[in-house]
Amino acid sequence: MRALNRPAIDYRALYRKAISQTQRNADKAVLEGIEDRMVAATEAYDATMQNEGPHAVVKIDLTAEEEALAGALYKKRIVSRKGICRSTYDDLIVSTSTCPYCLDGEIYEIDHFLPQAHHRDVVMYPGNLVPICHPCNHIKLELLPVDARHSLLHPYFDRLPVQPWLFAAIDRTADGPVLKFRVQLDEAQHGNIAPRLAYHFDTLSLDSRMRVRSARVLIELQADVEQYLADLGAGGLKVHFASEADKHFARHGNTLEAAAYRAASTNDAFCAGDYKN
Ligand SMILES: [Zn+2]
Repeated sequence: MRALNRPAIDYRALYRKAISQTQRNADKAVLEGIEDRMVAATEAYDATMQNEGPHAVVKIDLTAEEEALAGALYKKRIVSRKGICRSTYDDLIVSTSTCPYCLDGEIYEIDHFLPQAHHRDVVMYPGNLVPICHPCNHIKLELLPVDARHSLLHPYFDRLPVQPWLFAAIDRTADGPVLKFRVQLDEAQHGNIAPRLAYHFDTLSLDSRMRVRSARVLIELQADVEQYLADLGAGGLKVHFASEADKHFARHGNTLEAAAYRAASTNDAFCAGDYKN
């Protein structure tokens, strides 16, 4: 949902550095033997991600032994705190302040965009390693792209248009108002990124997760009504909420705050203080 710059890391240099710590000569020889193909796989990965999308990435053929060694190389040299390339992992973790998949989860781990169980050829390619929050990783697990319209958005390759595509509505319930979220983008205008945004949003359960996280915003919205309704009236409050929505969007793009304030600005009953059952 949010774009990140692709890590500017020399992959061949990273691969060679990782191999340098391999003790067993036979293993080292196997890993050196597949170096050119591992590098070629990342070049094909980049080109396919940019031109066709994640569903079209084809993995290179590796033997079971090569796959096992590549997987171990990632775990021992990049993930392990004793690994010679651990700084790559640490740099990725601090490369963004919030989760690019859900917009504001705390960064907790590294996700293989194409799962390592299926794509050992890019298991330690930084372009396939995305810093994300624990809930997103827990939901995603080893999910593979389905087709051109059903694939998660890749923070390093997919770019959403700079316009509102996250929307909210305020619903009245017996327990008080709740915010419900949805995404909307015109497929005729924007192509496959539109259904992929919807797929991403649904697959990661972002409506319910944003609803939980929006409780604080809802308190702010109700406090504004309590504070300003007498002075501004419902019409003035709508203008106030629209201005807050514009401010959030200009500063941070599509956030749940921008969507929540926009929802309040278009809700006559809410702006009239009519949100309690
Ligand atoms: Zn997340």
